[in-house]
Amino acid sequence: MVKKVLKFGGTSVGTIERIQHVAKIIQKEHSSGNQVIAVVSAMAGKTNELINLSKNISDNFNKRELDVLMSTGEQVTSALLAGALSELEIKAKSWLNWQIPILTEGEHTNARIVNMNIKKIDTYLTEKGVVIIPGFQGISKNADITTIGRGGSDATAVAVAKILKADSCEIYTDVDGVFSTDPNKIPVAKKIDQISYDEMLELSSVGAKVMQSSAVQTAMLYNIPLEVKSTFTNRNGTRIFDEDNIDYSKSVTGVAYSKDDAKVTITGVEDKPGVAANIFEPLNKSQINVDMVIQNISSDQKKTDISFTIKREDLLKTLDILKKNKNIKYENIIHNEKVAKVSIVGAGMVSTPGITYRMFRALSEEKINILAISTSEIKLSVIIDEDNTLNAVKKLHTIFELD
Ligand code: ASP
Ligand code: MG
Repeated sequence: MVKKVLKFGGTSVGTIERIQHVAKIIQKEHSSGNQVIAVVSAMAGKTNELINLSKNISDNFNKRELDVLMSTGEQVTSALLAGALSELEIKAKSWLNWQIPILTEGEHTNARIVNMNIKKIDTYLTEKGVVIIPGFQGISKNADITTIGRGGSDATAVAVAKILKADSCEIYTDVDGVFSTDPNKIPVAKKIDQISYDEMLELSSVGAKVMQSSAVQTAMLYNIPLEVKSTFTNRNGTRIFDEDNIDYSKSVTGVAYSKDDAKVTITGVEDKPGVAANIFEPLNKSQINVDMVIQNISSDQKKTDISFTIKREDLLKTLDILKKNKNIKYENIIHNEKVAKVSIVGAGMVSTPGITYRMFRALSEEKINILAISTSEIKLSVIIDEDNTLNAVKKLHTIFELD
């Protein structure tokens, strides 16, 4: 007998038929003698629908009430799934965040789970009951309902797995697992059988959206093995675990891309100590995350250009802050939002020389200009023109032998 947390995402519980199908997956686990805790998302699209309702009242809808509103999506699926299991004559019960309770800290709409009471749940599990827990929510120490950030059901599942000391945590979704690149755009993409937490984190931070990255981070911290798999097929998914256990035959594990960056260049800034700090300090104070920075070498030792990338949604705010900044002198500010970030990720990169130049050479063969570069031990990202994204991804996927 093992104790399993099974998490079902929005598309997996998107219709009544699908909820009934999920009940059958649980039935199978349950009848093979496993203890099952199911963590569910809201039906696909529901959370957005609820947010839109609130916007009809105000763009600045009260955050406490927004949490009360948003948390209902998961409440609905929890009850429906418990009902579907009863129909299969399986003992099952849903437990809302305040009934357990799941305690959170932090502000409304962005809280994080700090603890939960496992007594009632554990007893119910030993009595062969299936426990159903709504993802994405908890209560604060004042007993207000909180939510833990969009996509937060993953984080609930991992937190529940950790606190209940589950043997595994399976993330059921609408794809077969984690892919070497986006299978919808690049048909030769391959499912990855196993991947380390580090690689998974890098992949999700640069655009692969299978799992919420903060949830992967928690799993890594507490060494909780994860498996991402499809609700709709019986295929094996992707196992995510400690990297010591993975044998790397390839240096690159995956190629990811995102189109949510923008690049800003400040030309003709003074080339002297303190200038960069003066540029970036106010951005940081406004919670704008700067990703890559490039400073050109100045030819006359007097003036230089500084480029950096930020999230596209922060562009207007960034330009505004720069223009109001009295502490910097410059000639011009140029921006480009038609850029994309393409990244190769792989724990095997550490031990393989030449990855960097092979990536650059491959892009140049496709006549793709690199606008900015950043690296970490197991990741190499470049900023390029958005129009070249798919070309670049395809080429890199091929040359690093992932096709
Ligand atoms: N329903 C929530 C959302 O859409 C949480 C989740 O699905 O993970 O963000
Ligand atoms: Mg999700």
